[in-house]
Amino acid sequence: MSHELNIGTQIPLENGNTATIMEKLGEGGQGTVYRVSIDGKDYALKWYFPERISKPKDFYENLKNNIEKGSPNDAFLWPKFLTTNNNGRFGYIMDLRPKNYRDFSEILLNKVNFNALSTVVMAAINIVNGFRDLHRNGYSYQDLNDGNFFIDTDTGSVLICDNDNVAPYGTSLGIAGKARYMAPEVVRSKMRPDNITDRFSLAVVLFLLFFRNHPLEGQRLVQCPCLTEELELKFYGKDPVFICDPERDNNRPVPDVHDNVIRLWPLFPAFFREIFQKVFSKDCLHRDRNRPTDNEWQIALTNLRSCIATCPNCGQETFMDESLGRCINCNISIPKQRILVCKDDKYKVVLFPGNKLYRCHTDSTSDDYQEITGEIIRNPKNPQLWGIKNLTQDCWNTEGAESKMIPPGGVLIITRTSRITFSASCSADIIF
Ligand SMILES: [Zn+2]
Repeated sequence: MSHELNIGTQIPLENGNTATIMEKLGEGGQGTVYRVSIDGKDYALKWYFPERISKPKDFYENLKNNIEKGSPNDAFLWPKFLTTNNNGRFGYIMDLRPKNYRDFSEILLNKVNFNALSTVVMAAINIVNGFRDLHRNGYSYQDLNDGNFFIDTDTGSVLICDNDNVAPYGTSLGIAGKARYMAPEVVRSKMRPDNITDRFSLAVVLFLLFFRNHPLEGQRLVQCPCLTEELELKFYGKDPVFICDPERDNNRPVPDVHDNVIRLWPLFPAFFREIFQKVFSKDCLHRDRNRPTDNEWQIALTNLRSCIATCPNCGQETFMDESLGRCINCNISIPKQRILVCKDDKYKVVLFPGNKLYRCHTDSTSDDYQEITGEIIRNPKNPQLWGIKNLTQDCWNTEGAESKMIPPGGVLIITRTSRITFSASCSADIIF
């Protein structure tokens, strides 16, 4: 039975308006997406296959609640209006995706590339921040997978779509999630998706984004000629093994099959590899409560961004981290750099020209990773002399070889400073 809507069909909306079908844009597991026109303005309509929705009445009510409650932040292509419910046939209206956003799945297939390393990190920060706001609003996503994201590969800006399965904690809409992204306890059918299982799916998405292979797919999968249901249950549910597990080596990536992760994994700073080793450790895979939170990811990613700098030799972005010591592009040795250590070791910033401080570094109560509050610059007359420019409205005080008050717009000299007091409750150390 076809559920296709003809071009020109008028779909009544719950608010009394009408949407006119203009063009079919695509099809997913639960429905078809059309471009529609409402009062002369273009939107997208997701129109469901009724037989694919297990609890249509609850589903419709949940959509309605989500529309009333509104989007957690502007990274979401959130439902805007509902159509009327005509005997279980319904859909919702959302904004169209702007053309500069590409499918995450295209990125994973290397069909589209990011313009810089820092843009990949920015995309990851935006994904994590989107889910953090979602979870803070009491929702869980339930069906997090590579089909849910659109990313602008020039800016790292992210749009999270398919928000129709988003539901308050404890609500089940009958969704289990997409295979390969489901937490092991969901695969084993022990748990329904919730905010904790979201954490596993988020880690899979981030691992794919950075390393371009699946964290649980190594030699065990390659060696089995046919992936039976029983083996799938073993590899993703009962006995999952991380391909980069520091102790368990029975599921390592296979050359010629998993070349991305083989090449990319050693290029990342140790502290960043460690958070993946934690989330995919035996303990976290089995005892779901220890999984890194959205906040822990946000801090790790903010720190990852803070150690990216331009290689003085090849001019490309690289990680300046002690655990690496070399440029990830040209392999030249990179000397140890001074580091700003903020908030009891929570945040670290490599003090290399071009790097920036954000509100989360200079304000004790903030976790804002977007508002710039300082910048590492070279002295124009003496480029060997580096400083931090105060881009806040407050005076900073420094201690060290030189104790000074740095007014807004002023610059402190890095080598003459061992401690900066940004405010009465926030200070940071410069270590070498
Ligand atoms: Zn280089």
